[in-house]
Amino acid sequence: MRRDCPHCNAKAKTSDDRIQVIRDGSFWRKSDGRLIIKFKCRACGKHFSHATFAKEYRQKKRHKNERIKNLLGERCSIRGIARIERLSRTTVLRKLKFLGPIALVELQEMNHARKPITRLQFDDQETAEQSKYKPLAISLAVEEGSRWIAGFEVSEMPVKWKMSPRKRALYGNRKDMRAEGRRLLFARIKLFLDPKVTIISDQHPHYPKSIREHFPLATHVRHKSRRPIDHGQDELKQGFDPMFSLNHTCAKNRDRVARLTRKSWCLSKKKEHLVYHLAIAFVRHNKSLPCNESQRK
Ligand SMILES: [Zn+2]
Repeated sequence: MRRDCPHCNAKAKTSDDRIQVIRDGSFWRKSDGRLIIKFKCRACGKHFSHATFAKEYRQKKRHKNERIKNLLGERCSIRGIARIERLSRTTVLRKLKFLGPIALVELQEMNHARKPITRLQFDDQETAEQSKYKPLAISLAVEEGSRWIAGFEVSEMPVKWKMSPRKRALYGNRKDMRAEGRRLLFARIKLFLDPKVTIISDQHPHYPKSIREHFPLATHVRHKSRRPIDHGQDELKQGFDPMFSLNHTCAKNRDRVARLTRKSWCLSKKKEHLVYHLAIAFVRHNKSLPCNESQRK
């Protein structure tokens, strides 16, 4: 298939049937052994090929993309993947930065393709970047029952305990960006929710205002926070849990996303990397749910 020139935008075939783009050889791509056809543009004299238009253009380890995506969703750290796949850490990190934005778009598209959500559970999950003195909050919105992830947002939050003067001098006072994070999340998921959606959350004092602002027709149901079960898993609660869909998803995230695991060596160095990692894991999560096929329009 002939393509228009990406350099000067010349049409492959002009309106008076003149052919502008001609075939100019081919090559076997080393990374996946595919034959790639090359073209030459007669208008500007420059070359291009079918590979020029691919998202993976100029990647030398494109055959690892799918595997890295799967490993990231199965409790593998960046360094762990580098060791397993015999890649350098830089390559794996580059893959995370390549796959992350694609997953963010995919999560959005997956939600667009579904029926509007009528019952949504919402809460924050806590983690940190670099050190426990730099905490982050993951605002998560999950459909009740199906555990489908509608969206998430990562925002900075202050330390919850009193810091020693030395630590305060080292880390400074951290701003609370959670309200802004909620605003961004609600603005994004608004499109996938029924206007008369029922939103279920805990009794956090700031939630009603944020929810009223974005969903004036919604019903907001608030439940008292419950005691966690004894296995050190704060997410899963004792007895009947009205927020089970969300808490179960949070517990699954702690298990599947290496950097969220409690009491481990693995920790995010950058907020941006956490966002990408979560997006990749959440796309996998949504695809694995039984509702994935049946609820499509
Ligand atoms: Zn050209």
